[in-house]
Amino acid sequence: SAGLALEKISFAYPNGPQLAFDLKVEAGDIVSVMGPSGSGKSTLLNLVAGFEQPLSGKILVDGKDVTGLPPHQRGVSMIFQENNLFPHLTVEQNVGLGRSPSLKLSPKDRKAVASAIERTGLRGKADRLPSALSGGERQRAALARVLVQQNPILMLDEPLASLGPALKDEMLDLIKELHQSQGMTILMVTHDPQDALRLARTLVFLEKGHIVATGTTQELLREG
Ligand code: ADP
Ligand code: ADP
Repeated sequence: SAGLALEKISFAYPNGPQLAFDLKVEAGDIVSVMGPSGSGKSTLLNLVAGFEQPLSGKILVDGKDVTGLPPHQRGVSMIFQENNLFPHLTVEQNVGLGRSPSLKLSPKDRKAVASAIERTGLRGKADRLPSALSGGERQRAALARVLVQQNPILMLDEPLASLGPALKDEMLDLIKELHQSQGMTILMVTHDPQDALRLARTLVFLEKGHIVATGTTQELLREG
């Protein structure tokens, strides 16, 4: 597994607010990112993923400076609240994209795809289009793609927000299981303190584009 660091990162949208982040995440930790709407949670994840470029500062994955690298070379996988899948591709193809952007899959790749589909409980649904899946199944397919990508870091931006309580439990269990088996370092944005308590050892709290608290989830949420 790999640690993650944001070193003196500063960022601003055109005509937007200033954001600044300093953060060290230990290898193998699960971190929940919380804070009011507009506090910078998505931006923090997008900076790590490489969808946004900082004005200054460095992003390190496993001690390696990835600041200038394109998203696919950073060792980081990302899951959003929804729309993680291409609608015109089957589950199997969507998962396969985690191995090869052109879907030219070796026998070994195909095996990895089949195994990821199995592990996320989607056996028998490999040939379906996303529109023929439930919301929970779509999120599981997105996790299957993360499995075959084999990146050391996983970031999830409110992955549970559009799921009902039962599906949410299922996703949380699956994320935990992946954490245990793959040893990934995980950052998850959530609004729900219960999700944070159930999943994350560490909590990072943002306000107005800055990290205002970091600590163990238990301590921070107990003290209110
Ligand atoms: P979230 O659910 O994370 O709060 P938002 O509703 O803030 O998401 O943002 C949804 C989309 O709108 C994102 O792509 C974000 O980059 C964009 N966005 C948010 N705020 C602004 C803004 N002030 N100006 C332009 N785009 C914005
Ligand atoms: P959160 O995810 O915590 O809701 P965001 O990271 O989406 O917060 O937004 C942080 C701040 O940046 C907010 O003030 C938001 O309005 C602003 N913002 C987000 N996206 C854009 C954008 N594309 N253009 C301008 N401002 C944006």
